[in-house]
Parts: sequence; C-alpha cells; structure tokens
Amino acid sequence: MSGRNDNGAGGQADAGGLRVLRAANPAGTRVRAGHVEFGGPGFVVMAGPCAVEGQEQTQAAAQAVAHAGAHVLRGGVYKPRTSPYAFQGMGEPGLHILAECGRRHGMPLVSEVMEASQIPLMLDAVDILQVGARNMQNFSLLRALAEVNKPVLLKRGLSATVQEWLLAAEYLVAGGNPHVILCERGIRTFETATRNTLDLSAVAWVKRESHLPVVVDPSHATGDRGLVVPMALAAVAAGADGLLVEVHPTPERALCDGAQALTPELFSELMGKLPPVLAAVGRTLHPASGAREPGRITG
Ligand code: PEP
Ligand code: MN
Repeated sequence: MSGRNDNGAGGQADAGGLRVLRAANPAGTRVRAGHVEFGGPGFVVMAGPCAVEGQEQTQAAAQAVAHAGAHVLRGGVYKPRTSPYAFQGMGEPGLHILAECGRRHGMPLVSEVMEASQIPLMLDAVDILQVGARNMQNFSLLRALAEVNKPVLLKRGLSATVQEWLLAAEYLVAGGNPHVILCERGIRTFETATRNTLDLSAVAWVKRESHLPVVVDPSHATGDRGLVVPMALAAVAAGADGLLVEVHPTPERALCDGAQALTPELFSELMGKLPPVLAAVGRTLHPASGAREPGRITG
C-alpha cells in the first residue's frame, strides 16, 4: 500500500500481508448479489429511499428506480441518526416492506445492519448487508459479518483514511468473507458548503491498491440533490464500479435525508446520462434487473 503509514497498515501491506490488496487477486474480485455482479464490466446502480417509511413510499420509490433501470433496491430500516430524537427507522416491519418491494420488481436488496444481533433477521431478507460510515470501525460487527456468506457493502468512515478503510475490509476478508464491496460516501473536511467532501482520488487509489469493487454514494457525499448527478458522473470517470443513490417519491416529505434525495425524474435523468460517460471510459451499464422485463412484476 503506497502512501503514508500512520498506523502500521502500510508496513504490513508493503510486506504483502493484507488479503485486500491487489496483489492477492490481481484480476480483481467480482461480488455477486442475486443476478447482479459488482467489479465486472457492468456498472451497477443501487437506488432507493434513505429510509423505509411505509409501504406506499417504498413501493413508489422501488417502482421509480426499477422503471429507470436501477439494479439493486436500497432502503434503511435501522437508521444511525445523529440525534436520538430523529426517526430511527421502522425496524423489522420495514424489512418486510422492503423485501416485498424487491420481490415485486425482481431487484436484490441492500440495507444497513447496525449491530450483530440484527444479522440473522437481515440475512433472511436482504442480499447485501451495508455497514454504515459510523460503524466502519465497529470491529465486533465486522467480525460477525466475516462469518456470513453474503456480500457486505463497507462504507468509508467519516474521518477514516484509505488505509483504515482497507484495514476494516481486511477484518471481513481475513475473517472468512471475501464478498466485500467498498463504498466512498464523502469524508468530513473543513468545507461546509456540502455535507461531506467526495474523495474521488480515494476511489482511484483504492481501485489501484485493492482488488475489491468500489462504489460511490454521491448522495451522502454532497447532501444536496443538485450535486448528485454531476458527482455520480464524476465517479464513473474516476473508475467506480457502481453507485448508491438516494431516491424518494416526495423528497420534501422524507423523514430522513430529503435534501439529498433525487426525485424519480432526476433519477431517470441520471440513468440517461450514465451510458455515454461509461462508454468514454470503456464500460457499460450492467444488464437490467428482472423488473424491466414485462410480466415479471407480480403485484
Ligand atoms: C445511508 O446509506 O443511509 C447512511 C446512513 O449512510 P452513511 O453511513 O454513509 O452515512
Ligand atoms: Mn441517508
């Protein structure tokens, strides 16, 4: 691992010890979730609401993102909120709603797991377990997820260096779970105009140094729906393998992260803008999910 070594990570990596480093799998790791493959030629788009708020809202979001060509449906049911008074997520009832919407549209699901005790329930319902930025160094959670045979989407911590991020991934891979997708979601800097600062050089750096797929979340990176589309396109150019984007049918009524949620119209606009940028860097959009095939929608 090139770059500054401030915690010993570089030393181990330079010695070739870490399993997440590119030398361990020079061809690159591909991670499968249902029919979707991360890290292959196809660029993957995960989209949906920040939080599952109810059946109607989740169904409307799922319908919109499926129709526009998203591959994976996102939705949080356990929400790590800064304030204890903010909406904390629907929990298990929300998971059932999300699962039903995923089934209906033939889309695999990604949702955040906040603690190890939630893993058994999540395993039954979702295809990708998300570790949120605030939990990137929750080592007991990482150790528990290392024992699971399902993909983990590992978000970069708010103040984590790229070395710390890879070492968190190492807990998963070395512990027995090689199905790891990294997610750059912006870091905290002195800049306050945006919610976070999207660190695109980290995307290029991690793609070079590690064999793991890397996706970008332009929603939390900017906190501003007007910036999500340009940053998503920049992520493509930087070499990302996919996106995680928040979409809400009525963002002004969202219980969580409304300012950064794309409307269905803006999300369609994004999906329309991706192919030429992907083509410019020699890539294509991943083949569509089942929901786009007429007759696969069951309800
Ligand atoms: C989320 O994806 O809704 C989320 C809470 O993200 P992060 O952990 O990146 O803040
Ligand atoms: Mn959110």
